[in-house]
Amino acid sequence: MRALMKAKAEPGLTLTDVEVPEPESNEVRIRVKQVGICGTDLHIYNWDKWASSTIPVPMVVGHEFVGYIDALGKDVKGLKSGQRVSGEGHIICGTCRNCRAGREHFCRETMGVGVNRPGAFAEYLVIPQHNVYPIPDDVSDDFAALLDPYGNAVHTALGFDLVGEDVLITGAGPIGLMAAAICRHAGARHIVVSDVNINRLVLAERMGASAGFLAGRDNSDNVMKRLGMTEGFDIGLEMSGAGAALDDMINAMNNGGQIGLLGLFKDKISVDFNKAIFKGLRFKGIYGREMFDTWHKGLSMLQSGLDISPVITHKLPFENFEEGFTALNSGQALKVLLQFD
Ligand SMILES: [Zn+2]
Repeated sequence: MRALMKAKAEPGLTLTDVEVPEPESNEVRIRVKQVGICGTDLHIYNWDKWASSTIPVPMVVGHEFVGYIDALGKDVKGLKSGQRVSGEGHIICGTCRNCRAGREHFCRETMGVGVNRPGAFAEYLVIPQHNVYPIPDDVSDDFAALLDPYGNAVHTALGFDLVGEDVLITGAGPIGLMAAAICRHAGARHIVVSDVNINRLVLAERMGASAGFLAGRDNSDNVMKRLGMTEGFDIGLEMSGAGAALDDMINAMNNGGQIGLLGLFKDKISVDFNKAIFKGLRFKGIYGREMFDTWHKGLSMLQSGLDISPVITHKLPFENFEEGFTALNSGQALKVLLQFD
């Protein structure tokens, strides 16, 4: 079968032929229809410090996908051949304290599809039954292929009571933009988004943000004045991975506010934590999705009209993967989907 592989410990990916994987007794094989390129895949493509110290070579990469069940291990129950599915990319141990307490997203032994074991950038993917998530008929293939990054946004945003609250989102990449749409859908009042790219701020407003501002050129105080806000933001969602953005966010928060942290910082950062202490802020780190409440709520919101289509900027044949990675590296693309015929 065709697969995109990190074949050598160097930048780039190779389109190659590999054996079709066989499912173990508790696993399911999926014929992949389309995949999304994640920021993680871009790190792997570019072979940066994180990727080169994490990814064993050779490795078939990718973990955002939708497809159809093709084969079932002998112990798999409740799923059937031909069913349209996506799946959770974190494979949990099932035996650590957190797993046994139902907090599977905090598993200490989690394995990553397309990171520690063969991934979804291939015609066929094998994952445990536990990780398979059936897709309702009224959710499109495009949205189904994005449930992983969309789930990051859902997990981050719905970690807080959003109804009637004022939300500041720093970073208007795909996840920040989807988070803006989720906050609007879930009943927030003002949603302010900051980024360094003006086109993305325009998109943020299209997806439900009340206002956007260019980081470094304008600031949240000015936007608050324009919106008639006098006390500061109740909820902050940090999605840029920029230390300056978090420092500004702490400044802009109301006393007793809450901050969700999703953006990964390249290096250690410098923020004024005394301000956070005096304001009584609460911080929450977000990794992955809650298994599987995030999946359920995320799909329910899509079924009830939440639209994430503006983040899809490219749909390309699978073979044209280089074009997709180039568009992402240039900053032109948000979400790139690669499609099998
Ligand atoms: Zn575990």
